[in-house]
Amino acid sequence: MVIKCDVLVVGAGPAGLGAAITSSKRGLKTILIEKSSEIGYPVKSSAFTWKEVVENWDLPNRVISQWIDSFYICSVHSDREIEIDFGSNIGGTLNFHNFLQELAFQAIRHGTKIILSERVSEPIMDGDFVCGVKTEKKNEIKSKIVIDCSGPSAIIAKKVGLIPIKREAELGIGFEYEMLNYKERNSNAIEFYVGKEEIVPVGYAWVFPTGKDRARVGVSTVLNTAEKIEKKSIMYYETRFLGKESPIYERVKDAQAFEIHTGAYSLEGVLNKIYSNGLMVAGDSASQASMLVGEGIRYALEFGKIAAETAFDAIKSNELSEDYLKMYQERCEEYLGETFEVAADLLDVPTDEYWEAFIDSFILMKESGNLELVLKYLKTDMTREEAKKLFPSFEGKYL
Ligand SMILES: Cc1cc2nc3c(=O)[nH]c(=O)nc-3n(C[C@H](O)[C@H](O)[C@H](O)COP(=O)(O)OP(=O)(O)OC[C@H]3O[C@@H](n4cnc5c(N)ncnc54)[C@H](O)[C@@H]3O)c2cc1C
Repeated sequence: MVIKCDVLVVGAGPAGLGAAITSSKRGLKTILIEKSSEIGYPVKSSAFTWKEVVENWDLPNRVISQWIDSFYICSVHSDREIEIDFGSNIGGTLNFHNFLQELAFQAIRHGTKIILSERVSEPIMDGDFVCGVKTEKKNEIKSKIVIDCSGPSAIIAKKVGLIPIKREAELGIGFEYEMLNYKERNSNAIEFYVGKEEIVPVGYAWVFPTGKDRARVGVSTVLNTAEKIEKKSIMYYETRFLGKESPIYERVKDAQAFEIHTGAYSLEGVLNKIYSNGLMVAGDSASQASMLVGEGIRYALEFGKIAAETAFDAIKSNELSEDYLKMYQERCEEYLGETFEVAADLLDVPTDEYWEAFIDSFILMKESGNLELVLKYLKTDMTREEAKKLFPSFEGKYL
């Protein structure tokens, strides 16, 4: 079977849905292909996002499992803790399945055709132009533009050589349980736990409440890190974080896991080239997530949208070559400014030195009432000058 459309989107995660909504809203004939039989499963995210994401994408409040107004940052290494209370809701833990479904409803209402249970296997090429995809069920969908939003598998981007099949880059890996019978501390607060020896060598552990007696409890660390660390599985750190020595032991000891969420994310920063003839790559496929805190949902939605807007301009001008589509990369770079470069520099700071400087500066910011800068850090939205203000001891050394 051969189907034709203007824009073909691969993958119904946040990037693919952001692209499909925007493309069909612009009147382009849009097809979105998803390998799973259900949008939003399996969950591979802790799914915290900011309030403005819910507002900007016209989502109902029910996509939020729990609104969040505070953060706790606890260094198990130095036995210090700081609470930052923003005084009102700044974001929330999403019901991820529901969130993606609501986005899919918008895409469908604007005219997107969604094909489920269909795994894209390779691009259809016309010379060096991508002009559609083939699926494992031997279907062919031809399009003017393909937007690859297939997450870390980056199926089309790899097949056309934009991304090496085997990536050498550092990979973050996360593992969490969603638990019931969790004894709440403050159900409107997210908690982060740090300490190189005590928690994880590089990274952190967290508690994201999803209700009064429910929480996502997890850890993330880095594989292939340049630092010499003893290689242990992510499960080892998760089990230790739930164990008797853990600062949260009393709260989790009677809790039961009812879901496991796990996945990897790239720490290499946005790829050097995220387009080619007839193709754009968005979201995790293009490494468009914050390497500082692992946030990717907001970026995936935004860059899916920018890719679709660029597809609209390209199709309208009948210019599908990479010379034209490089505008997509430029638009993404404009959105990010220098924020991801600053985040990459901060990743070079050795772990415990980093977290202790981090707690010192957060105490100072809290005392001076400058919570805006703290929020900018949490959102990976800092300019270099702002980062220097937050971490004066890193100036000239890492920043
Ligand atoms: C453990 C963990 C915790 C995280 N926590 C947060 C958080 O709290 N907040 C936050 O903002 N970000 C978080 N992130 C990151 C965030 O989840 C991702 O950045 C975001 O989901 C990326 O969206 P995406 O659409 O690019 O990719 P994905 O969400 O991976 O979606 C890709 C889609 O493509 C489909 N697909 C793949 N291959 C094919 C194929 N061949 N054919 C058809 N379909 C295909 C997949 O089934 C999937 O539906 C976390 C990540 C991990 C791993």
